[in-house]
Amino acid sequence: MNLAFPPHPAATLPVAGSDLRFPVRRVFCVGRNYADHAREMGAMDQADGREPPFFFTKPGDAVVGGEGELRVTYPPLTRNLHHEVEMIVALGAGGANVTVDAANGLIFGYAVGLDLTRRDIQAKAKEKGHPWDMGKGFDQSAVAGAISPVSASGHPASGRIWLAVNGEVRQDGDLSAMMWKVADIIANLSTMVRLEAGDLIYTGTPAGVGPIVPGDLLEGGVDGVGTLCARIV
Ligand code: MN
Repeated sequence: MNLAFPPHPAATLPVAGSDLRFPVRRVFCVGRNYADHAREMGAMDQADGREPPFFFTKPGDAVVGGEGELRVTYPPLTRNLHHEVEMIVALGAGGANVTVDAANGLIFGYAVGLDLTRRDIQAKAKEKGHPWDMGKGFDQSAVAGAISPVSASGHPASGRIWLAVNGEVRQDGDLSAMMWKVADIIANLSTMVRLEAGDLIYTGTPAGVGPIVPGDLLEGGVDGVGTLCARIV
């Protein structure tokens, strides 16, 4: 096969405790998976009763990540870039119509992530009934720390998930507050698309989202999974 030009290389993330790197395929994100965040966004239907999960995506090459202090470029066309700290599920195997009982078997590991959001563009899209892509799926919008393999992290169902900006804690929640648990998310998502090894799933953010500006230092973590550090430049 003669390609017209070399294909763009896949984004990769380091695997903690090894020299392996995880090649990213697709990025899926769950919306409003913590009631306190749904409430702060004014989405009372999600906050007060468990609606079916809904998903949006980011391009695989929107992933920027690794260990140490990451540098993330402040994106264009926004005056209201928001942080959303999330636990990322990294798949090491694929499947369609995966059962809840089989879902954990697809998981390679977990990581701490930031679903960066141009909130002003997203808000305008919501108002007009337009897609969220340009509010959510811009370059470097999917920040991720190193992937902690299941052999190290197990399958965390509870534990602190937090984010500090310039040393001040802004988000401080617990994984147990997720309305849709990881296995439920995988089972539901796999009815809509076939999942494959390399897929990342951002599992939603707890309350406390807010704006960040160039120069800010974001530090976050998920108990039992790891930490994340990013400088907005
Ligand atoms: Mn999110």
